Amino acid sequence: MSKQLILALSKGRILDETLPLLADAGITPVEDLSSSRKLLFDTNLADVKLVVIRATDVPTYVQLGAADVGVAGKDVLLEHGAEGLYEPLDLEIARCKLMTAGMTGAAPSQARRRVATKFVEVARRYYAEQGVQAEVIKLYGAMELAPLMNLADEIVDIVDTGNTLRANGMEPRELIAPISTRLVVNKAAMTMKHDRLKPLIARLNEAVASRRETQDA
Ligand code: AMP
Repeated sequence: MSKQLILALSKGRILDETLPLLADAGITPVEDLSSSRKLLFDTNLADVKLVVIRATDVPTYVQLGAADVGVAGKDVLLEHGAEGLYEPLDLEIARCKLMTAGMTGAAPSQARRRVATKFVEVARRYYAEQGVQAEVIKLYGAMELAPLMNLADEIVDIVDTGNTLRANGMEPRELIAPISTRLVVNKAAMTMKHDRLKPLIARLNEAVASRRETQDA
């Protein structure tokens, strides 16, 4: 295993909040990630590289050791499963909630419920735990449309302000899990590259803690 460290970052809204934390931990990309079409970036540290990929691909890269470290939402990790991964740090960014939601004022169906979501594993587990019979329908986007179009009775989705739900005549129902962004580490790398990873995790931990203090002040 090379001593180079590869960090896999989730594209999109998580990336904007991840970069300042990485900078606090002493890692900055040598070029602007947002204006580049590249996917693999050098950093100020010769032995650290960044890959910027779809959030849902981050656990796969880290689990299989193509990246040593990843930054991914807990929603993605819950859906993917945690095999081969350590989750040593909550980065406390991109906070939101994984919830069920339905049409405003409509009582949840007590019969077999049709549930549209991209989080099919999470939804199956959740409804099974609740003892609710559910037919889980996989969608790749615009979950809020499904109840409107009578494709589903309920959805499982990320809720932040709730504005998207309200704009579509829906309301949140049950909280499945609070979500934030996590640092994940390949299990083998944690042993083989411990000398390199330990200080990185410690510095990120300090960066998270000092932000928490400023926010609480
Ligand atoms: P909101 O209208 O503020 O409740 O935002 C809900 C939509 O924004 C969801 O459908 C998600 O697609 C997206 N969203 C909000 N927060 C996050 C997050 N932390 N991670 C991923 N997607 C998010």
